[in-house]
Amino acid sequence: MFKQTNWDEPLIFSLGRKGRRGHVLPKVEEEISRTIGDVSMLVPENMQRKSQPGLPELSEVEVVRHFTRLSEMNYGIDSGLYPLGSCTMKYNPRINELLANLPGISMAHPYQDEGDVQGILEILSRLERWLAEITGTYEVCLQPAAGAHGEFLGTLLMRAYHKLNGENEKRTEIIVPDSAHGTNPASAVMAGFNVVVIPSDKDGCVSVEALEAAVSESTAGLMLTNPNTLGIFEENIEEIANIVHEAGGLLYYDGANLNPILGKARPGDMGFDIVHMNIHKTFGTPHGGGGPGAGPVGVSKKLAKFLPVPRIVFDGESFHFDYDMPHSIGKIRGFYGNSAVLLKAYAYILSLGFEGLKEVAEVSVLNANYLAEKLKEIKGLTLPYGKEKPRKHECVISAKPLKRETGISALNIAKRLLDYGLHAPTTYFPLIVDEALMIEPTETFEKEELDRFIEAVRRICKEAYTNPEAVLKAPHNTTISRLDEMKVSHPKTMTLSWRMYLQKNNQNL
Ligand SMILES: *Cc1c(COP(=O)(O)O)cnc(C)c1O
Repeated sequence: MFKQTNWDEPLIFSLGRKGRRGHVLPKVEEEISRTIGDVSMLVPENMQRKSQPGLPELSEVEVVRHFTRLSEMNYGIDSGLYPLGSCTMKYNPRINELLANLPGISMAHPYQDEGDVQGILEILSRLERWLAEITGTYEVCLQPAAGAHGEFLGTLLMRAYHKLNGENEKRTEIIVPDSAHGTNPASAVMAGFNVVVIPSDKDGCVSVEALEAAVSESTAGLMLTNPNTLGIFEENIEEIANIVHEAGGLLYYDGANLNPILGKARPGDMGFDIVHMNIHKTFGTPHGGGGPGAGPVGVSKKLAKFLPVPRIVFDGESFHFDYDMPHSIGKIRGFYGNSAVLLKAYAYILSLGFEGLKEVAEVSVLNANYLAEKLKEIKGLTLPYGKEKPRKHECVISAKPLKRETGISALNIAKRLLDYGLHAPTTYFPLIVDEALMIEPTETFEKEELDRFIEAVRRICKEAYTNPEAVLKAPHNTTISRLDEMKVSHPKTMTLSWRMYLQKNNQNL
């Protein structure tokens, strides 16, 4: 059985000793006085730091060992299966890193002259074309830094469109199904809309009757995920699109997880006007804690003129940034997005090609259905909604019977899975499934690993009937066992930085 490394690792501030150095930087003052004369010309006097910054002082080897030990107490996509539903935690191919680390690319600076960065501009421009082709949209903007940021841009585009038609005042509502990702209603509200939630039907899909009842003169648009968060494809999508369009609304496609339809179906062809895609999910780039991802947005022809500035244009000879767009909603982000992430996606698409992308879709769907079929047979688990329908990239299993019969919940199963050296799936989402375990294997896991996951879930469910205490107290084999869910999310008990640590101990930095 799995046993995670457990170092008694101090904070980096307790390591090293005063005066120790890992790297010697050139003396800034000397260099500046030699070249431009005076530091205060660069940083005004009142903004110059007078005291030492209070950084830890360590040698290079101490730093490397510290972080290596910490990483050994962690679990990542390179450690094993990471079936976090809706998050598409796929393996990040190393060739993407190789390309993004080429010096001409990694050393480029956004303030460089356009003439100096023609290569990157060409790559980004091509990526825009490819993503437009993949999603069936007319133009793509690469700027948003995450999926939710893309959604925000999308809802602002809806506003700009209705405003130009003189309907901004009356089109105040965005319709969102009850199975939607939480960012959808949040983005709609941030853009100033009211959210109208519609219920799913017995198959977990949009109820056409509920949609017909919800649309009106006030409808600005519908935000939809297809396949939805249950992993089920909305078969009535053309009818849905017609209803919304006839009411004068726009269709927004949440394409965070494009995996199952890559090369198979295109949101643009289904009738969607705006599409966001998550580069850090579908296109194999690393996820970053709340930031360094990319959530490009594709739009139909009638919305292209509203896209943020600048746009990359080719004048027949060279690429340049175009700011001359009178209908643009303006800026959505500094510079032109997270180019390092976008370059990795470019490498991912280039290395797979069209046939490879289609295979991604096929294998991810096969893996999700394999898991769904095997897991629903386990005593205590069910596969709710759309029992006869195939799943796409993910499946949502319910542990409701197990909870009723043994007291063991989805959360307890998730915790116990960690003892097997497996990452837990997403739990308690989507909200329409009780005791939800939302599982997304992606195409990057072998059958043996899926079988190991199924076997672990089977054993845990059996244990729930025979020895529930062991499940309730799990995990036993990880560096840190069960956390106090209140303490880890309460500002009073969280210590997120060295500065906070010192403040809590009444010391100054
Ligand atoms: C992940 C996800 C989002 C949000 O993407 P972020 O990059 O995390 O902001 C939106 N919708 C769905 C369905 C998702 O899975």
